[in-house]
Amino acid sequence: MTDFTMKTDADGVATITWDTVGKSMNVMNQQGFLDLDALIDQALADDAIKGVIITSGKEGSFAGGMDLNIIAKMKEAAGDNPAKGLMDGLMATHAILRKIERGGMDDKNKGGKPIVAALPGTALGIGLEIPLACHRIIAADNPKAKIGLPEIMVGIFPGMGGTARLTRKLGAMGASPFLLEGKLSDPKKAMAGGLIDEVVPADELLSKAKEWILSEPKFVKPWDEKGYKIPGGAPYHPAGFMTFVGASAMVNGKTQGAFPAAKALLSAVYEGALVPFDTALKIEARWFTNVLMNPSSSAMIRSLFINKEALEKGANRPQVPDQTVKKVGVMGAGMMGAGIALVSAMAGMEVVLIDQKQEAADKGKSYTADYMDKGIKRKKATEEKKEATLARITATTDYAALEGCDLIIEAVFEDPGVKAEVTQNVLKHVGPDCIFATNTSTLPISELAKASDKPEQFIGIHFFSPVEKMMLVEIIKGEKTGPVAVAKALDYVRQIRKTPIVVNDARFFYCNRCIIPYINEGLRMVAEGVAPALIDNAARQLGFPVGPLQLVDETSIDLGAKIARATKAAMGDAYPDAAVDEVIFWMEGLGRLGRKSKAGFFDYDENGKRLGYWDGLEAQYPRAEAQPDLTEVQHRLMFAQVLEAVRALEENVLEDIREGDVGAILAWGFAPWSGGPFSWLDIIGTPYAAERCDQLAAAHGPRFATPALLREMADEGDSFYARFGGEAKAA
Ligand code: NAD
Repeated sequence: MTDFTMKTDADGVATITWDTVGKSMNVMNQQGFLDLDALIDQALADDAIKGVIITSGKEGSFAGGMDLNIIAKMKEAAGDNPAKGLMDGLMATHAILRKIERGGMDDKNKGGKPIVAALPGTALGIGLEIPLACHRIIAADNPKAKIGLPEIMVGIFPGMGGTARLTRKLGAMGASPFLLEGKLSDPKKAMAGGLIDEVVPADELLSKAKEWILSEPKFVKPWDEKGYKIPGGAPYHPAGFMTFVGASAMVNGKTQGAFPAAKALLSAVYEGALVPFDTALKIEARWFTNVLMNPSSSAMIRSLFINKEALEKGANRPQVPDQTVKKVGVMGAGMMGAGIALVSAMAGMEVVLIDQKQEAADKGKSYTADYMDKGIKRKKATEEKKEATLARITATTDYAALEGCDLIIEAVFEDPGVKAEVTQNVLKHVGPDCIFATNTSTLPISELAKASDKPEQFIGIHFFSPVEKMMLVEIIKGEKTGPVAVAKALDYVRQIRKTPIVVNDARFFYCNRCIIPYINEGLRMVAEGVAPALIDNAARQLGFPVGPLQLVDETSIDLGAKIARATKAAMGDAYPDAAVDEVIFWMEGLGRLGRKSKAGFFDYDENGKRLGYWDGLEAQYPRAEAQPDLTEVQHRLMFAQVLEAVRALEENVLEDIREGDVGAILAWGFAPWSGGPFSWLDIIGTPYAAERCDQLAAAHGPRFATPALLREMADEGDSFYARFGGEAKAA
């Protein structure tokens, strides 16, 4: 069976239907390109065919994109010269799409056949690049559909002609949100943005496409006509000049130069805009090859596409029957509880939201109402949807309402005594199979589980704030947590459409364990007299969304101080962070608690807008005369986190490096271009990593000492994905 089939009707209109075998949405693979090419040849050669419709056999979608695994395969197949393999592969694809675009016309644009793309719905990546090569794009009026080119989100760019065609169709300015931000639109918005040409009722999709073909339209692309000029001007046109200078500044401002794909995309657009279309395609292919050869792109694809999806599909789910949650009890209607109630109700679960006072419970529920109101304003939700979502949430103080819950998520104060009392009270009201989860961020799960007489049904489900925005959920197994509890937590996370990682219980679990040393390293540098701007900018140039000092201001300095005190109490003499405490306790003492008090490492105006770094910092910690170079600061910040990740793996807190990588990017924005801590170590190579650790340890202290596992791997020249990656190592 092939993914593409063609039928011709009595009026001479051929319909090529794309229907990937065994998938719910079409995905392009190498054979798919060959099949499509053969059918296009056949249609163009057949005198009885007047024009061609390319559509999909899947209801509600055209195509989800390319099977990204084939990039890895293209590289592998080319043996010693992967760049040539990629370049040849890309040029072959360009030739197929160009054949569609020329539609059999001669070089005077005479003859040929119109080819129209008829999209029943979602069209992403190559699923839009093929339509862009067609002469007209008609989409069904399907508000759920997403149309766009999201490649930049996984570290590549639209390299199958999407960049060259969209720039010429919309101009550099018009194309930039679609190319540079991977913006996705529903069909109506896609038409308003110029991405597609027409939106029609779903049941008229094919008839309208046919009507257009039979109307004998002019179908030569503007860029194939003499005298064509790029909308908004090419780079040397005064208006175009402004656009390109602006785009360059915007990309560098947003990415800090840390993402190779964004830079390469911009180069492909700029250079491509200076030359004829066919040369632009060649330039695009060269830059795309360049990006695909950069280890960053394979690492990003591996973590953000392949492994993220594998984790979401339950790669580490125990083999127990379906644990879909029907009714969830949320204990504590504060900041986290309110968010957990919201995402659960939105996913269709019945929610009981409990707090100590009715007023507090109601306030928690009103968070959902406010969220839905914002959605209605932005036309993302409706009044009916809001009512239905709110109707699923019962806000109460009455534990009896918990009857029938199959999952409880506790988000009360971070106090073991309060949590134990709540646990025991809940267990009096729920059935014997109910799973109890705690959202604690700092307390050991195995200790909290002691409040339950069924510790095998006790687990950690650790959300990040704000719950509705953050895509990662960290699931923590206590010593006695059983497989059903793990499956329950994973099925719940799947229901709320987030990405799970599953880790074992240890201080700060996995994510906070790595974030804290990142912050602490920044604070140590403050105490050493390193310029605060150097510290934060070094992090931003590594691709972190915020530097460590800004991050403490956002999460609050008193929270940092509280965690430091608790850690010190737990670790006693082994506590290693006195230098950090000096800074944080001093700031706390001054009442400079961060953004919330409008004073922290930064000054803020009365509206809470960040101004510059607070100059009192320099008065207390005078600027060192010799400032470290950028790489030294960056390596301190990177290794502080990465070594913690390696230790978490050594100690079996992490069982799967894929979770370590995906979790780091989604939880705290760890340099996404690197693919995560383990991917970064593989990119720089374990021998170099160990050597750098030795140097950093000698210069800055034993926290950088090379972990035994890394030393052993460095000695053997081993990489993390070769050793621990399982199936993922192919990427
Ligand atoms: P919060 O103070 O905003 O909310 C706690 C809520 O629990 C309050 O509304 C309080 O009235 C209620 N509560 C206290 N005792 C109760 C009881 N006996 N019965 C019912 N309700 C009770 O706190 P938060 O920020 O939502 O944090 C809650 C939990 O989530 C903590 O364990 C915290 O460590 C964890 N957490 C917080 C964050 C964060 O960023 N804030 C992130 C991850 C995890």
